[in-house]
Amino acid sequence: MVLIGWIFRVLTVLFLVRLVMGLFSGGRRAPSSRGRVRKPAPPATREGGHLVRDPHCGTYLPTARALRVGSGDSAVYFCSEACRVAWAARKT
Ligand SMILES: [Zn+2]
Repeated sequence: MVLIGWIFRVLTVLFLVRLVMGLFSGGRRAPSSRGRVRKPAPPATREGGHLVRDPHCGTYLPTARALRVGSGDSAVYFCSEACRVAWAARKT
């Protein structure tokens, strides 16, 4: 029974050490990552083209990566073929 008590104590210490290390690294990481906080993507011109909104799922994506249906002002953009199909099915 002494062995079980010893193992339990080691595990407890390891758990506490991990907890403290987690608190330390978390506290250290927070200030450096604060400068890199991702801003909400505004619908603006970016690398890859103008941002467009998928009318089915609401995802914003650049036109270069979007699936386009139609042309000109009536063009609709989708993030994936699945969204395009689902949107077409819902529309009809
Ligand atoms: Zn989508």
